[in-house]
This record gives sequence, structure tokens and C-alpha cells, in this order.
Amino acid sequence: MTEELNPFKIAQQQLDKVAGLLNLKKGIHEYLRYPHRELTVNFPVKMDNGDIKEFTGYRVQYNNARGPCKGGIRYHWNVSLDEVRALAAWMTWKTAVVGIPYGGAKGGVICNPKEMSQGELERMTRRFTAEISPIIGPERDIPAPDVYTDAQTMAWIMDTYSMIKGYSVPGVVTGKPLHIGGSLGRNEATARGCMFVVREALQKTDYKVCSPEEWRQRETYEDKPLPDGDEGGGYHFDDTVVAVQGFGNAGSIAAKLISDKGGRIIAVSDSKGGILNKDGLDIDAVLEHKASTGTVQGFEGAENLEPKAVLEVKCDVLIPAALENQITKENADNIKAKIVAEAANGPTTPEADRILYEKGITVIPDILANAGGVTVSYFEWVQSLQSFFWSERDVNMRLKGIMVKAYDDVTGMCQTENVDMRTGAYMVAVQRVADAIMHRGIFP
Ligand code: GLU
Repeated sequence: MTEELNPFKIAQQQLDKVAGLLNLKKGIHEYLRYPHRELTVNFPVKMDNGDIKEFTGYRVQYNNARGPCKGGIRYHWNVSLDEVRALAAWMTWKTAVVGIPYGGAKGGVICNPKEMSQGELERMTRRFTAEISPIIGPERDIPAPDVYTDAQTMAWIMDTYSMIKGYSVPGVVTGKPLHIGGSLGRNEATARGCMFVVREALQKTDYKVCSPEEWRQRETYEDKPLPDGDEGGGYHFDDTVVAVQGFGNAGSIAAKLISDKGGRIIAVSDSKGGILNKDGLDIDAVLEHKASTGTVQGFEGAENLEPKAVLEVKCDVLIPAALENQITKENADNIKAKIVAEAANGPTTPEADRILYEKGITVIPDILANAGGVTVSYFEWVQSLQSFFWSERDVNMRLKGIMVKAYDDVTGMCQTENVDMRTGAYMVAVQRVADAIMHRGIFP
């Protein structure tokens, strides 16, 4: 039988699996299997050569029972409605698993941003924003960066939405530049959150720097100062061997944060290919190399790898930080990591999940492992709404508090229900969304 690779079908399968375990009411289960609202827009953009080009974009609001919809906007040639639906479902579970007051949404535009000028990207972003403006807003649905979108994209969205309203609306997006109401720590947040949960998972095995109690007491997010320069949580990775697939916002910063704390990053990759050096890569130098050549490949002193070979490198922690469907039934058996921390959304298929589980590999699922991004988005939104700004330390401490609690909630569920971490995370999340629906009741 061929493996299911449609991300939305996969998202539905993942939900179906826990609906039974949670004894979810049939009607609620059915309600949660589909997005609440979907908008498809086809719109023209003036290109630099004078041509007018038609683009297609989507905004899917999956569920808003727990609060306004929240989720990024992706620019990629493979964007499809089903992909956006899946990503919106995963946002719903993600915000629930970390307990922040949002529902889930996602957006995407089919385009190749690598072949577009800044001017073309700006005009496309502004027109797309205008097209989806009736359904977004600080109380409705708050976009953020995702694959191939960044703080500049968010600034254009914020400005366009503000022009339509006639006044500045910083709370309409998160991941903005600092000058227009962005939050300190937002750019690194996905990677930092991932680092926090990896640290928790390592600690649970035989990894020791200080006891879990000591670590938690030492830095709760309640205003305890961290040692100077140590916004990461006062610990060291002590030569943990790490491989990272994807060298965008999540992957490159995760590699940098973990290597700064003593982890040994032996392999990284981007869409063009990977590199391996068993003695450890100098991540600052790899970042410079990528900035000047456009790829990590060809880095001095490292061996070049095929793009997906990085997944099969022997390591303690593997961080897939690229796209969906990277670990499938074809390569799952070749994974040699002890822990897989999903910084990407949907990198592991359900069949691969089963294989990894049987091999005794701990998978920290995407909805937990990459929830640091949306968590600091929540902090940014709160700051934007109040026009009041927090220190970076404050942001990072609060992030740590939320990530550690979510990790505990999930592993607690795994222990009581004797399930793997993805199932445990889904059980926590889906139950919270279902509870919100039950409390609110069905209108009318
Ligand atoms: N795109 C990120 C994610 O997949 C961040 C979403 C957000 O901050 O709203 O979680």
C-alpha cells in the first residue's frame, strides 16, 4: 500500500487516532476534522518587467474555540489548500498544547519567492493582505512568518492592513520588526523553545548537568535573574551530538543556540544539500558561508551530503527543521538519533512515526517542539495590544516556563495513558479544544 502523504489527510488521521482514546463525542470529532473557514483568493500582481501575473493564496481558519485564530503565512511553490488546511489544524493543536488563548489558522501563497524581487514580493504581499483583510485582525486572526516569509513581510502586512483601517494596527500580525512593535526574542523563539524541550527530553534520559529540580528552581519565569548573557536557561549541552535538517529561521538558530551551549552540531542541510563534520561544525562560520554563497554546501573542512542524508546521520538529537513528509516509511528505519525534535511542521508521516516508536526513538512532536514561535507571538500580540514592551530576558523566561509546563503536561499524559509523545500531545490539545467547545456550547 502506498503511504498517505497528503498533509491534511495525515492531520485528520492524527486527530482520528486520539478521538477514540479521548472518547470524544461523535459530533465534536466530526466538527474538529474540518476547517471552520477557508478563503481562496486569486489576484494580480504587477511584475518588474511590466507583465501582470496571477497568484493564488489561501487563508484557512481551522478553529477559534479557544481564542482568535493564529498562524503563519507561507510563500512556497508547493503550497496547496490541503497543505494550508493541515498547517491550520496543527496550529490549533499547537496553541492548545502550550495553553495560549488562540485557535489555529494558516495562510499561503503559491509562488517562488527565490525568483522574485523585493518589489514584487512587496506588491504580492500587499495585495494578498488586502484580499484577506476582511477576515484577519487582532481579535479575529493574526498572521505571522512561516516558510520564506519574515519580519519584512509582516511589516508590509501590518502597514497595508493599517492603511485600510485608517490607523496603525500593530496587533494584526506578529513577528514584526522591533521598530513597529515586534518583540525581543521573537526571531529566535521557535529555536529557543525547541532547545528547551530537547533539554527536558535529554534530562529525562541519562543526561545530567544539574537535577531537574535544581534546574527548574534555578530559573522559573517569575523574575529570577539569569546569569549574565545566559538567556537560554543556565545549562550546557555537554557535547550532545546534533544534526539539523533545514537552515532557515528555525534550523539555523537552533543550531546556533545549541552549539553556543556546548552541543556538537555535526551535520546541517538546506534545500540544496547538506554538510557533515563529525568533529562539529563552527555554526557562525557556516552562517557566514551560507550568507555569501547561498548554501551550506561547500563549507571548508566538511563533507557534502545529499539534502536528505542529514536525517540518517548518527547523532543524539535530530532536528528536522524544513518541510513536511521528510521522515517517511522509506527512510524511518535508517534514522539513528535517540531523539527527534520536530522544529518543522509535519516532518514525520504516521507510518514513519510507528517505525520510530518501535525503534525506541523519542519523537518530540511538532505541535510541542516548535510551539516556541507562536508562544512568543502571543507575547508580542499582548505587548502590541498594550503598547508596553518587555525585556528579552522576560520574554525568554516566560517562554521557558510555558515550554517546560507543556512538556510536563504532555509527558504526564504519556505516562498515564501509556502512549507516545505525539499521541500524548494530541490528547492534551484536542481535549482542551473540545472542552472549550463544550463550555461555550453550540450556537444558536
Ligand atoms: N509559523 C509558525 C508556526 O508554524 C509561527 C506561527 C505564529 O507565530 O503565529 O508555528
